[in-house]
Amino acid sequence: MSADHPGPHRSIATVCLSGTLEDKLAAASAAGFAGIEVFEPDLVASPWSPTELAARCADLGLSIDLYQPFRDLDSTDPARFARNLRRAERKFDVMEQLGTATVLVCSSVAADGVADPDLLAEQLAAAAVRAGERGLRIAYEALAWGTHVSTWEASWDAVRRAGSPALGLCLDSFHVLSRGGDPAGFAAVPGEKLFFLQLADAPQLQMDVLQWSRHHRLFPGQGAFDLTGFVAAVLATGYDGPLSLEVFNDVYRQADPTRTALDAMRSLLWLEESLADRTPVVPRALARPPAAPELSGYSFTELAVDGVSGPEVAGALAALGFAHTGQHRSKPVQLWEQGRARVLLNASVVRPAAAGVAAVAALGLESADPGRAAQRAEVLCAPVLPRTRGATEADLSAVAAPDGTQVFFTRTHPGGWPADFLPTGDRADDGGAGLTGIDHVGLTQPFDTFDEAGLFYRAVLGLDPQPVTEVAAPFGLVRSRAVTRPDRAVRLTLSVAALRRGGWAPGVPDPQYVAFATDDVVATARALRAAGAPLLPLPANYADDLDARFDLDSALLAAVREHGLMYDEDDAGAYLHLATAVLGDRVFFEVVQRLGGYDGHGLVDTPVRMAAHRRWRLQAAG
Ligand code: MG
Repeated sequence: MSADHPGPHRSIATVCLSGTLEDKLAAASAAGFAGIEVFEPDLVASPWSPTELAARCADLGLSIDLYQPFRDLDSTDPARFARNLRRAERKFDVMEQLGTATVLVCSSVAADGVADPDLLAEQLAAAAVRAGERGLRIAYEALAWGTHVSTWEASWDAVRRAGSPALGLCLDSFHVLSRGGDPAGFAAVPGEKLFFLQLADAPQLQMDVLQWSRHHRLFPGQGAFDLTGFVAAVLATGYDGPLSLEVFNDVYRQADPTRTALDAMRSLLWLEESLADRTPVVPRALARPPAAPELSGYSFTELAVDGVSGPEVAGALAALGFAHTGQHRSKPVQLWEQGRARVLLNASVVRPAAAGVAAVAALGLESADPGRAAQRAEVLCAPVLPRTRGATEADLSAVAAPDGTQVFFTRTHPGGWPADFLPTGDRADDGGAGLTGIDHVGLTQPFDTFDEAGLFYRAVLGLDPQPVTEVAAPFGLVRSRAVTRPDRAVRLTLSVAALRRGGWAPGVPDPQYVAFATDDVVATARALRAAGAPLLPLPANYADDLDARFDLDSALLAAVREHGLMYDEDDAGAYLHLATAVLGDRVFFEVVQRLGGYDGHGLVDTPVRMAAHRRWRLQAAG
């Protein structure tokens, strides 16, 4: 039932989810979907009869909204078309047993598909008459790679010519948007002739459209398509049928269907919210989660450490100019501070990690309304974390991001979370090494949840996803996407190895970093070197290449060579950054200075940094 999520009738095609029908139905129901599209191969492979499937769906509160797909109906060969009509009648029998009224007929991809618009309309009408006699109807969909019908306009032309009440359109956002179709044209279609709406997003790729569709579809909000504009145009016609997801994706075909279904539901709730403020006013109830409260920055980053990695990270923080200012009242957690940069070192077991490993366990984000932020997260299917706290400790709202990182919504004031820490007497007020705050945090994502994570931060936290970039690093292609506040008060970079790693894996497994801001990276670098911070040396080739590519003044180039700085430019400014060695096998720190309006994160330097990290480790290993 959709009782958990009031709003329109939300549906999901069984092909979106991994497993057999039992797995898929349970997952769809648990995520709060009201209906499904039955993907025919799922039924064919099932031991359930259509009647038994219908009964199981009824038990779970799921309606069967569509039977799909019926392929290659039309034919220039009259004998074959007659056979196709007989095949259709058999499928109508199945639909009657399922109790579903609508079948998806997709445009033909066969060599004998009909090119003549009048003959095509005539054949579609002949099938629709048979469907209509049984109280059924046909939703005709243009596949982007159809032999003769490959645009939604061509499918609408066929439906209009056929003029049959039992024949209407199925609009699929992938097929329309992958071909650069314009949803504004939907205004010419009466809403009652739109029989079904299938939604999928996708990354912008230059590739064969069939392969693009079959492997790379994503849930709304995860890709590059304007799903909001698409659905707004559909709803403006008066369409009042299901909002249904149809996503073919190599990861989701294998992933835990329960998790995928929640990701899918989150995508629809996000999409509906994005529609709610569109004009023309959308004449139906849509999800309205509590608005995302403003986030004004990082209050802290928490690292999980143990007896080996803890002292190593603490030593590095001290050399970076941080002071150990606080000790938690009831847990083995240290607070380190410099400027507005705060790092917690948590030696209680936050989550299991191998001995000696440090990991980013939590992000503290400064929220205008932590309670509302948690309510929004819950509505958007994010796991809200139970908190254990002492009598005098702050109640922190936290949710789990897809990679397990805890996201705390905080307000940093004297009575807030800092009151959980007893002062050590060390002070952070001598300016340290000039670090002013946390610029951003970089987290490598598990391969399977990279797209889920992008949508999580977009939907739950209200961050804007930036374009996906890829760099060729020494141990494989690294794909990255930043998610940022509009005012850049919060930035996060999500990265993933573009393929799973095999046995040859000399890189740091799933590296993570915290980037601290400075107003003068050269002065900071000098201070860090004087303090013995483990700064990562870079090869001279890198500085030589910068010299060739950019017009750097000689003093800056000398500083780049002396301190192992990295440099990048964009249209608005420049970026100087340096990295430390990897600490606790996984985490490193960066120090960054933004010049002008530079808006990136220096990801272009990832290959050089990764190679330097490997060299450091080989030397450390002796
Ligand atoms: Mg489709």
